[in-house]
Amino acid sequence: ASGQTHKTALVFGGSRGIGAAIALRLAQDGAHVALTYASAAAKAAEVAAAIEQHGVDALTLQADSANAEDIQAAVRQTVARFGRIDIVVVNAGVLHIADVAHFGIDQLDRMLDVNVRGVFLAIQAALPHMQTGSRIITIGSNTAVRSNYPGSSVYSMTKGAVAVMVRGLAVDLAPRGITINNIQPGPIETDMTSDMIDQLKDHIPLKRVGQPREVAALAAWLAGDESGYMTGASITIDGGASL
Ligand code: NDP
Repeated sequence: ASGQTHKTALVFGGSRGIGAAIALRLAQDGAHVALTYASAAAKAAEVAAAIEQHGVDALTLQADSANAEDIQAAVRQTVARFGRIDIVVVNAGVLHIADVAHFGIDQLDRMLDVNVRGVFLAIQAALPHMQTGSRIITIGSNTAVRSNYPGSSVYSMTKGAVAVMVRGLAVDLAPRGITINNIQPGPIETDMTSDMIDQLKDHIPLKRVGQPREVAALAAWLAGDESGYMTGASITIDGGASL
């Protein structure tokens, strides 16, 4: 990877599923990629090896998105290695489904910490290293649009918060020429949905679940130069599930 200028992408939660697909796609499009993970070190290493197949560099970083210091350290290490951050993807997220009567406080706190607080802190930490023309992409959910299944209240709340946060941040970042947009996937085939995918399929107008690479293709467009007039948007990609 020499001779040409590569963008640098930092993907929070890039070891599996949608985040891994986005990390790979950005590498395919020519970016060096740093990716964080919570515990799946071996999976992260596999993604890094696949990224390097595209002739760009990869950096894996253990960083719990519930922990502000971990997030800040991941940003520091990314900048130390690549010198800049052009694309931030905040994908790390957790799902716990339970009725309000049985929702544990620990689970509630964990989801708020990772899915909301961690998103804000990741963006805050990365911003000092981002220039005009940089891109921020969050991964929300179509549950911010429609509650598709029982027990989704807290998850929907966190993803609704992301969509609203992105609108506010878009206004704050516009003077710097940095855009931020939120992808709201519907049922996508990953570890997170492995035990619910069969039930969901019948309720999706397109009669199938989505693949991580289909979300990654949208992220690639948002990360690129052609998306420059879009900011603060939440774009739903769910086979029509929330219609
Ligand atoms: P997976 O569970 O398959 O993967 C989650 C990824 O996020 C892993 O790389 C995981 O790391 C990382 N992660 C989780 N918690 C943390 C944390 N505390 N700190 C750092 N990294 C963390 O999920 P999906 O790919 O399905 O989902 C990705 C995003 O898309 C999430 O935000 C999810 O809410 C959202 N989404 C998913 C949908 C779907 O149908 N799959 C639909 C709508 C939204 P590790 O491997 O170390 O655990």
